[in-house]
Amino acid sequence: MKKPTRHARAALASLLLLSLAAAALPLGQPKTEKASAKQAPVTDTLKAPGATSSPDAPRDEKLWQRALKLQRSSIVVDTHNDILSFMYDEDYDIGEPSAGKYHTDLARMKQGGLTAEFFSVYVDRSYAEKGGAARRALDLIDRVYRAAERHPAELALAFSTEDIRRAKKQGKIAALMGIEGGHAIEDSLEALRDFYRLGVRYMTLTHNNTNNWADSCCDKATHNGLSDFGKEVVREMNRTGMLVDISHVSDKTMSDVLDVSTAPVIASHSSARALANRPRNIPDDLLRRIARNGGVVMVNFYPAFISMDYYNADRARDERLKSRREALRAQYKDDAKRLEAELKKLTDADPIPKAPLSVLIDHFDHIAKVAGVDHVGIGSDFDGVPDLPAGMDDVSKLPAITYELLRRGYSESDVRKVLGENFMRAFAQAERVARTANAGQLSGTGSLRRIGAAKK
Ligand SMILES: [Zn+2]
Repeated sequence: MKKPTRHARAALASLLLLSLAAAALPLGQPKTEKASAKQAPVTDTLKAPGATSSPDAPRDEKLWQRALKLQRSSIVVDTHNDILSFMYDEDYDIGEPSAGKYHTDLARMKQGGLTAEFFSVYVDRSYAEKGGAARRALDLIDRVYRAAERHPAELALAFSTEDIRRAKKQGKIAALMGIEGGHAIEDSLEALRDFYRLGVRYMTLTHNNTNNWADSCCDKATHNGLSDFGKEVVREMNRTGMLVDISHVSDKTMSDVLDVSTAPVIASHSSARALANRPRNIPDDLLRRIARNGGVVMVNFYPAFISMDYYNADRARDERLKSRREALRAQYKDDAKRLEAELKKLTDADPIPKAPLSVLIDHFDHIAKVAGVDHVGIGSDFDGVPDLPAGMDDVSKLPAITYELLRRGYSESDVRKVLGENFMRAFAQAERVARTANAGQLSGTGSLRRIGAAKK
């Protein structure tokens, strides 16, 4: 599926610098879906004796054909895919078939019936520490433009709901961009507006690091949610029409965003905490508030976020391999590539059971029940995670979700909502809010504050 070398070239130096801190956390530990993607084992044949991945009921061929037809005729949106980092760091051309290495390529996107993909402009936390965060985002954005230039018959840059529907009519895949990690704007509303002008249509306010204005799910809380500047960021996103993404943020940050935002919010890749008690997931009370806001929660496929069985097995493996990983790290401290290969080999030799597909569908089901079927969507995290549920090995497998939802009794119109229409509704509303907010305003009106300026 994928080479475990995410951001290797760009981030390695800083990773090594941070190795003292990192030493406390085995590289294989899923501190973040990104970090774990870097070195954890990814093989299509990952199976263990006694694996709980017994296939769900044998496929009903008639229902499968109905699912495929529905998939082909629907707007299918995935709001979080991390292939862009590989496209940049490894010069990967998404037009090249990459099955067995990556989760994503153009042919498999078509096979999966995908209409629109949000390429994640993921800015590692190391850039917040060493500088260059905005530059990193700019470099990644350029790569999306270049991919669209290289594959004009298949890929169309898209900046609006209208662009997505047009791409669908033309039989192309709409390419959109979302920034992951609000530190990418370097505390500048000017930079935020420039990213919007370049086409970025959502921003995940934090990654797993608390930044200068928003608390993360998985780091120290220093702002009690959003700082005043963070609230200003949200308002400016509303004003421009950039969706506010509340994946990765703390519960209090989510709550603050919901208080401030006048446009629907999204969680671009988060699942249900009631089913898997992980901080990256969303608790029921906030699911209900997101529904009232008109927002949408896009289910993340990462097994360690959707299944506590998987998570616990993964943790236990980390414990088993801890000392051997540390030894490898010492042995290959000057040879990052070799280190990655050796770590992968070690993890591959100790596979854990796949999470069954039904567990993934349970998260769709739960969010549909708690928040309503108008508030759930797809946020795969393909190419950002080291493993996936059984039967959801890559982007070509998306119709399995359609099939399973139909099998559970969802109507075709409800399935269309989940596949993409919920996102389209929220995005269209954010576009309307921006048009209204912008009436008679100049860029920057009411939003001139900068953290740097405020400090002086
Ligand atoms: Zn993420």
